[in-house]
Amino acid sequence: MRLKDQVAIVTGGSRGIGRGIVKAYAAEGAKVAFIYKGNQAAADSLVAEVTQAGGIAKAHQCDVANHDDALKVVEAVEAEWGPVNILVNNAGVIRDGLFVGMRPEEWNVVIQTNLGGTFNFCHAVAMKLARQRKGRIINISSVAAEHTNPGQTNYAASKGAINSFTRALAVELAGRSVTVNAIAPGFIETDMSENVRNKAGDLIKKMIPLKRLGQPDDIAKAAVFLASADAAYITGQVLTVDGGLSLGAVAV
Ligand code: NDP
Repeated sequence: MRLKDQVAIVTGGSRGIGRGIVKAYAAEGAKVAFIYKGNQAAADSLVAEVTQAGGIAKAHQCDVANHDDALKVVEAVEAEWGPVNILVNNAGVIRDGLFVGMRPEEWNVVIQTNLGGTFNFCHAVAMKLARQRKGRIINISSVAAEHTNPGQTNYAASKGAINSFTRALAVELAGRSVTVNAIAPGFIETDMSENVRNKAGDLIKKMIPLKRLGQPDDIAKAAVFLASADAAYITGQVLTVDGGLSLGAVAV
């Protein structure tokens, strides 16, 4: 077990990619506190699934965009399980639409959830990890940070900023043996990508050299690696996990 007795927080853990990460971390022996915003049924079903598999997971409801809520969740996790060792900032939203018609609320919610949520949870744990002189922070970015499509100015800006933030924070925390990395997924089969998949699923598959859409488990495996002792000498990196999509080739 690669994460035995570690205490992990995974934001946006109840569905999609985060759910995959929660299950993988619990299977590797971590105690996993995960954050969800509103879908309690999904959160409850995940706790049941992890428990049945012999793991430990607990759901915490909060809006990652709220700084005070982030502090409270981290305090509650530490009161129950002790110091947090691993943070995965995964919670994210999209509000796609062409820029000229974008409403300020659509800009703000994407920036405040994706980037603001990452800031809030990093802010809540960074000093604690630095004092422990160990820890892992993993931010879930997107290939859209570098290879974007029309209609995603808000989303691309949030993910590009997450990549820059990851490198900058990595430099600050490296002296304390805390690593900070990002994962940039390609097209992953989750609720978030459903609309795009319904409209252009076949075209997307043709753009992916490995000829399949990604699954949450593909990202979870990378997140386990970056959280594990095996990744101790890796920091400030953005690991792309996209089946080769960002290579820009047409699949043969
Ligand atoms: P989903 O929409 O499937 O799941 C989103 C999760 O985040 C849910 O658990 C949701 O909880 C939670 N969440 C959303 N907003 C908040 C909030 N304000 N506070 C707390 N929790 C919140 O998304 P994915 O699994 O597809 O995406 C996960 C991450 O991966 C995101 O950062 C996304 O940008 C990134 N990504 C996804 C790709 C894809 O193809 N799917 C590609 C590249 C990156 P609830 O259900 O309670 O609302």
